[in-house]
Amino acid sequence: MVANTGTMNGQTRTRRVMHGLAFRRAEVRRVERLTPRYVRITVGGDALEGFQTLGAQDHFKLMLPNAGQTEPVIPTMTPEGPRYPEDVARPVMRDYTPFAFDPETNELTFDVVLHGQGVASDWARQAAPGQVVGTAGPRGSHIVDYGAFDWFLAAGDETSIPSIARALAALPRGMKANVFIEVDGPEDELPLPTDAEAQITWVHRNGAPAGTSPVLEQAIRAFDFPAGEGFQTYTGEANALRDIRRYIVKERGFDKQWVDVSGHWKYGVADFDHHTAIED
Ligand SMILES: Cc1cc2nc3c(=O)[nH]c(=O)nc-3n(C[C@H](O)[C@H](O)[C@H](O)COP(=O)(O)OP(=O)(O)OC[C@H]3O[C@@H](n4cnc5c(N)ncnc54)[C@H](O)[C@@H]3O)c2cc1C
Repeated sequence: MVANTGTMNGQTRTRRVMHGLAFRRAEVRRVERLTPRYVRITVGGDALEGFQTLGAQDHFKLMLPNAGQTEPVIPTMTPEGPRYPEDVARPVMRDYTPFAFDPETNELTFDVVLHGQGVASDWARQAAPGQVVGTAGPRGSHIVDYGAFDWFLAAGDETSIPSIARALAALPRGMKANVFIEVDGPEDELPLPTDAEAQITWVHRNGAPAGTSPVLEQAIRAFDFPAGEGFQTYTGEANALRDIRRYIVKERGFDKQWVDVSGHWKYGVADFDHHTAIED
């Protein structure tokens, strides 16, 4: 199903494809510590057959067991929606970006930032092969025809690395791209392969707690935007994004249609609902 197409001069530049909701059981296959605060986890299993991820900004719900459970309770889909057995604790769910899905092996790879304390971060810190999780979604994919734009810009914090990496890998050869990623320090930087003509800027918050530093906004404000029409994406902590969006849309007057702003988490809020509108 295709909905919400973004067109310009009759040319379709972005479109949304919806996927049927599916809940799947998966087993941890591999765990790799990429940086001190970043874990790459690969899960697999027959239930992942048919997992769909078409867009760089896709997300799925990672379902985790509650205390005292060895695995999360996976609901069955009925015409009325998901049905859970009675008297069992429903799984804890958090949003993650599918970094890669291999349909040959039915393996899904995603990256988890290890931050202070949170159910998902705590789980990822101890994740080991054989453990069981669940996945729900992705419900849809936002597909961008990057080549229809003159340039691409992405900015975000470390939770954005998987989606930015996917977008960079999908950009046409030689496309002009600028990327700003806020991390604590140089030890948090990761390789971002691309055929684009990309300038990657790692912005360091140098010990300030994530979600409290203005360094990403400062980097965007100091940036000399190229001429022509660009596609821009901003993801990360919701309060920081509010200020960046105000600058991009209100002060700079970029067309909102081609500026994608999505809060991945909010400082001090557990299980932040990313559908919450980012206020002006
Ligand atoms: C569309 C989408 C895609 C996402 N993709 C990824 C991804 O690929 N990888 C990834 O790591 N995250 C990703 N996130 C963010 C992730 O869902 C949140 O960080 C989530 O809150 C983590 O859950 P938790 O149980 O660890 O912490 P929670 O229980 O939700 O929160 C506990 C506390 O930790 C704080 N907190 C939450 N996240 C962070 C953080 N990153 N840094 C510092 N403090 C934090 C909260 O403010 C709260 O005070 C994505 C979010 C969305 C909406």
